[in-house]
Amino acid sequence: MTTHTTRLAPSPTGALHLGNARTFLVNWALARQNSWRVLLRIEDLDTPRLKPGAIDQTREILSWLGIDWDEEMPLQSSEAHHCVDAMRSLADIGIVYPCPRTRTDIQRALSAPNAGEGEAAFPPELRASIACRPFDRLASNWRFVCPHDEVDFMDAFAGPQRVRPADDVGDFVVWTRRASPSYQLAVVVDDARHGVTQVVRGADLIPSTGRQLLLYRALKLKNEPEYTHLPLVRGGDGRRLAKRHGDTRIVEYRDRGVAAERIIALIARWSGVGGVEAISAAEFAQHVRLDRMPRGDVTFSPEDDRWLLD
Ligand code: GLU
Repeated sequence: MTTHTTRLAPSPTGALHLGNARTFLVNWALARQNSWRVLLRIEDLDTPRLKPGAIDQTREILSWLGIDWDEEMPLQSSEAHHCVDAMRSLADIGIVYPCPRTRTDIQRALSAPNAGEGEAAFPPELRASIACRPFDRLASNWRFVCPHDEVDFMDAFAGPQRVRPADDVGDFVVWTRRASPSYQLAVVVDDARHGVTQVVRGADLIPSTGRQLLLYRALKLKNEPEYTHLPLVRGGDGRRLAKRHGDTRIVEYRDRGVAAERIIALIARWSGVGGVEAISAAEFAQHVRLDRMPRGDVTFSPEDDRWLLD
């Protein structure tokens, strides 16, 4: 029997809020229902945004909610040498290149008429000559030569997906000028090494999945995981839940005396398990069903906040 493995992969760049707690709880519940192994992998590569104390607090809050894991992986930053090996393989086949371009260079090269909302794709005319050159971890950012192809995958919750990394981002950064791997590279290298077969995360990462599948294929990694992208929790203004919607950090509710079971009851309502005033993580795992989960994003309202604090 093949072992199925999932991972909880928090980034300690801020405290866990209701949105990430919901994703972790559903991920964990699916794992316990299906006897997947659960790994905890703290993704601490985004060093400028790391918050002191956030790593310990993340473990503590997950446990307080009733979420456990079978094994904790070393901090992602301590295993970056595996990404160096991957960069060497990508450089050997001439599919990555050093790119000293600054954000301003890139902005300048993007002609105003097609600069839309959000981040525009890296302009191909800035692509450096992609003749093979040896990987140098200190050189600068390194970008991946993004093919034009669409990437298709079947999402276990969201259904068939088609993404176009070339239009979304173009040549994306795989190694940063801080001499560390980018999120896209590290997540692929580590998921593959750790034998992760099930990736459960928020739907905002669907475009990233296209980039990650391109890396799986370029690195000739056989074990592409099954993806489950869950709807997001949004604030009343329709934007993804964040600080602007008030303090929805789990630690803040805990410190104000809210029980974990109350928080999980709210998450349960958002996940198609309605009508409960309080519920433990273990009970939630018995009741939640992926096929009964609301398809759309959910909205966190001031009434939800009052209900928690009731
Ligand atoms: N550390 C990433 C995050 O917190 C995890 C993304 C993923 O699951 O791949 O957004």
